[in-house]
Amino acid sequence: MFFEYLDVVTNPFPPSDNSPSNCDVFHIGRIYGFHVFYAPLFGKVIISDSEFRKRILSNKENFEKICAPELGPCGAPPIADKGFTHFGIFPTSECNLKCVYCYARGGESKKILNFEILKKAVEFLNENNSVEKVSVFFHGGGEPTIQFELLKKIKKYVDEELKAEKIFSLQTNGVFSNETRNWIQKNINHVTVSCDGPPYIQDFQRPLRNGGKSSVFVENTIRFFVENFIDINVETVISKFSNERQAEILEYFHKLGVNNVKFNPISERGRCLCSPTEFSTSPGMLSFFKNLLKSMELADIYDVKLAFTGSLDFCKVASCVVASRAFIITPDGFVSPCISVPSRDAEYNELIFGFFDKKENKIKINQKKLEFLQKRTVQNIPKCQNCFMKWHCAGGCAISACLMHGRDIYSPYEGYCRWIRKVGRSVLVYKIKKDLLKTHPFIEEKNGQIIYRGVFNEFELKEFPAKGKEGGSLLEVDVDKLELLTKKIEEQNPRVLLLSFKISKKYLTRETGRKIESFLKSLKEKRVSFVVAKPLPKCLFGEDYQRIIAQFKIPKGCEECIWLYILKDGSFHICGTDKTIPQSKFRSRKDIVEVFKKYNAKPTALFCEECVYKLRGNCAGLCKQMVF
Ligand code: SF4
Ligand code: SF4
Ligand code: SF4
Repeated sequence: MFFEYLDVVTNPFPPSDNSPSNCDVFHIGRIYGFHVFYAPLFGKVIISDSEFRKRILSNKENFEKICAPELGPCGAPPIADKGFTHFGIFPTSECNLKCVYCYARGGESKKILNFEILKKAVEFLNENNSVEKVSVFFHGGGEPTIQFELLKKIKKYVDEELKAEKIFSLQTNGVFSNETRNWIQKNINHVTVSCDGPPYIQDFQRPLRNGGKSSVFVENTIRFFVENFIDINVETVISKFSNERQAEILEYFHKLGVNNVKFNPISERGRCLCSPTEFSTSPGMLSFFKNLLKSMELADIYDVKLAFTGSLDFCKVASCVVASRAFIITPDGFVSPCISVPSRDAEYNELIFGFFDKKENKIKINQKKLEFLQKRTVQNIPKCQNCFMKWHCAGGCAISACLMHGRDIYSPYEGYCRWIRKVGRSVLVYKIKKDLLKTHPFIEEKNGQIIYRGVFNEFELKEFPAKGKEGGSLLEVDVDKLELLTKKIEEQNPRVLLLSFKISKKYLTRETGRKIESFLKSLKEKRVSFVVAKPLPKCLFGEDYQRIIAQFKIPKGCEECIWLYILKDGSFHICGTDKTIPQSKFRSRKDIVEVFKKYNAKPTALFCEECVYKLRGNCAGLCKQMVF
């Protein structure tokens, strides 16, 4: 019987007393002939053969006895408390940009939040909200920093008067003065900048209100925040035009030093319905999806965290702030649960549940409506109960449901569900191939070309300094020439650099180790995306070995080496042996390691045989092929 599992998701719910067989375990298909199960509340993806499926996974008693203890605790959502965890403030509907797709038609009206209403909102929360920690966010149906004096005044007031513990965040278009950005640096804990990528995209999709270019301002803002260690995310809207350029967009942010990016396809609402062009129309979900998978893998190579709808970052009960208890005060004095409802005039304003009552001089809310909205957690949406994405999607966007079913936010839109499951399944397949069965990435030799094959990407690798298709380079570097190379590599800027080292016996010293470390560090600082292909021996790094191999993702031994097997003419050729495995029979890196160990008994340099690290099993030795 065969059964393996992998941690794929953080489950923030506390461990439950539920019987493990009541923790959702979904069969989601097959891969390489194995059955794939997803157990989100255990945080795991499981693969098994048919026998294990039949005897253990499908048998309640056996599952609880044999499988569940292996999987660890199963977390279950606690009963939610009733208060507001998010206090959203929309200071204005004005905007200094005129984004071609703006859902809120920012800048088309001039509504400014009355400070007295804000005070009443704080008063309301102090009297009615028992939540101890509140996330206060400034957002817009416009650009919040445009009313800078008001923004400062609000921040100060909320900081002093709102009783709960607070974290401040800001969503901005990034176009503001140095004075504003210095204030943000001192006053805001977390910033999300909206930017659609390199200037040739940003300037068309997000022009200034007067039609000018916004990219120069936004780029400066991002650089400033990165250099000053401000916690930032970048949110990017993908249009029909930019869809085929997702890789370039990601590369652009990577080079700017951004570590957290989110991709959203255009949602055709608001201004984009006025005069659609390829900059303001949706890329089409299938086409977006195809590129998104490549981006997901590229983001891993760049060490960038890419978020998107359908990613499996953590488990949650509510899809968005609608049910996760947001109280958003709009510039015209209404209380909305959703950032997509920025004023009374917005589409879907039926979600609004409160308003400032002038006569009574206080905020009034419709309790019945609020309860209806707050009940929209995944446990209360019948259609979601058997869906494997339920703890990530949690019923999807309430506005999308409105779009299809009017006020019925408890009936998810089937087209959306199909899409979410497709994304979720692909993310799991990716993790299985890369991290569980470890079949990918690998090298393929085809028609004289060397190709680096990831799960979704292929990079043709050319000997450095040339670049192959999609910008890949292959570099085998002598350790005594490292210093000369950093600049050249930076200039050449390959999308992926597959790097290995040539080392002779006299260079097996800590001094060489330090040089390699500083070489790799400077590549990282220059935001060069490299993959160290072959293992490096322990004697180079001594006690720092574990830290350095983890930091630069250096293979620990032949088992993890990229060159362990090469696909050629439909079969995998195993390093240093005449053995092959047909591609159709290849299911796991483990299978290849077994053959390798059996038939390539001495893959390391002769001089390693006497080394104390090797004798004690602390080092795999230096690969023969790396010796010069
Ligand atoms: S998307 Fe934001 S920055 Fe762009 S016009 Fe709308 S409110 Fe302004
Ligand atoms: S994909 Fe559909 S059924 Fe599944 S959780 Fe999301 S809304 Fe519910
Ligand atoms: S012998 Fe060298 S090239 Fe072959 S798998 Fe081991 S480290 Fe890689």
